[in-house]
Amino acid sequence: MIGGGLAGLSSAVALAEAGYRVRLLEKRPHLGGRAASYVLPGGEHVDNCQHVTLGCCTNLEDFYRRIGAAEKIRFFDRLLFAAPDGRRGSMESFPLPAPLHMAASFARFSLLGWNDKVAIGRALLAIARSGGRPKDISNDAGGITMLAWLQKHRQTERAIRRFWEVILISALDEELDRVDARYGIDVFWKAFLSTRAGYRVGIPCVPLGELYDGCKEAIARRGGEVLLRAGVRGFQAKDNQVTGVEREDGAVETADYYVAAVPQDILPELLPADVVEREAVFLNLRNLRTSPITGVHLWFDKRIMNEPFLTLLDSTTQWVFNKTQLNGGSADAQGQYLQLVISASYSLVPRSRQEIIELCLKELHDVLPAIREANLVKGTVVKETSATFSPAPGSDRWRPAQKSPLQALFLAGDWTSTGWPSTMEGAVRSGYLAAEAILSDAGEPRKFLRPDLPAEGLSRFWAHES
Ligand SMILES: Cc1cc2nc3c(=O)[nH]c(=O)nc-3n(C[C@H](O)[C@H](O)[C@H](O)COP(=O)(O)OP(=O)(O)OC[C@H]3O[C@@H](n4cnc5c(N)ncnc54)[C@H](O)[C@@H]3O)c2cc1C
Repeated sequence: MIGGGLAGLSSAVALAEAGYRVRLLEKRPHLGGRAASYVLPGGEHVDNCQHVTLGCCTNLEDFYRRIGAAEKIRFFDRLLFAAPDGRRGSMESFPLPAPLHMAASFARFSLLGWNDKVAIGRALLAIARSGGRPKDISNDAGGITMLAWLQKHRQTERAIRRFWEVILISALDEELDRVDARYGIDVFWKAFLSTRAGYRVGIPCVPLGELYDGCKEAIARRGGEVLLRAGVRGFQAKDNQVTGVEREDGAVETADYYVAAVPQDILPELLPADVVEREAVFLNLRNLRTSPITGVHLWFDKRIMNEPFLTLLDSTTQWVFNKTQLNGGSADAQGQYLQLVISASYSLVPRSRQEIIELCLKELHDVLPAIREANLVKGTVVKETSATFSPAPGSDRWRPAQKSPLQALFLAGDWTSTGWPSTMEGAVRSGYLAAEAILSDAGEPRKFLRPDLPAEGLSRFWAHES
């Protein structure tokens, strides 16, 4: 297994459970890839960036359960929004069947007007009644953008800005005019419309790195091992078959099966150049574009926020996470550590770290007035310029299956063909699918992939009808 992100880890754990001896080679000194944490020089454990899951992420939940980390994820039923003038609004589920479970709190949501709500309700109904597959998104030429679909469904400017963008830019890490409508609609169907529990927000209450402790054990139980600081320089291939991997320290490893669980831009660099030129699957990976995420970590000397997390409307800052509270810090702790997340942060990429911190502090002033009495002790900005692949119209055709055209080589990674966007759930799905492909190649087929949450209530009826 080359790569110890969620794709590599989930695949390795699944294969170990199936009785395979897995050797996992990870280039960095820690596991988790993009969903990892590390220790700052001051001793604080920080996540690469806040990572959240949703109730509809069934495979990630399954993986956390397999490695004994499920208890370290806390789920929240209430989504809290703040307008720039400080007003709050919330959305949560009420005891009504899907897709009506959030209708009452949506009707009461004060940060949207009635004309916005009527337009949103109409579009949501179109998604629900089609079982998540509206006919007007199928387009063989590569699909239409989410923005085009919303305009077709006559959404108001404010509905787009304060509702659709707020949910979708964070879920898909992309602007709506660059997102394939199929991905956007899928988010609403799976998280908000098909089931009552799909929208629940899951947040780890430990640094991300602590979630993966159980992986090493699961792999070692079957005689395998996890090697850190063990980067791979390249695959060796002969007659269309991978025969070994050369490590950065010059050692060569051989195995019955190889899984490349590295990011899509790294894989072609590890393969022989003639193989990449010959196989469209590898050559096409360059067509997958990426989009940025910026994380801003702020430490204050006083408590300025009471909520566990907040979504900001009409601001550059999209989410504010109260890390002190989420990590179980005492309520009367002196200071507070907040983490801000900005997805599709194209406008921030060229800006200096100081400028970004000043911009975020300015936005927090009106939303969290207690900030005026507090001092910023420390701040840091993490810009991930290639955080995720961009789910652009037609991007699915560049995502390869887990069984590669080379014998003995299998692919895992959020960018492989899973139907899901670039998320932890997508990465785990790819890992399970790669394990299934290996087992089927070995003549011992077995299923790891968990199904989506079953549609409920009226949505169940509509899902069957469509
Ligand atoms: C800032 C940010 C915020 C995000 N927020 C969320 C979120 O809130 N929710 C969500 O679901 N998803 C989120 N994501 C997306 C999520 O992190 C990824 O989709 C997922 O972690 C990808 O896992 P992966 O295993 O496919 O790839 P990676 O995590 O990239 O793993 C690849 C691994 O391969 C290793 N590697 C690379 N080259 C070599 C080599 N030559 N030899 C050996 N090892 C090598 C790397 O070090 C890495 O560990 C976020 C991503 C970022 C960047």
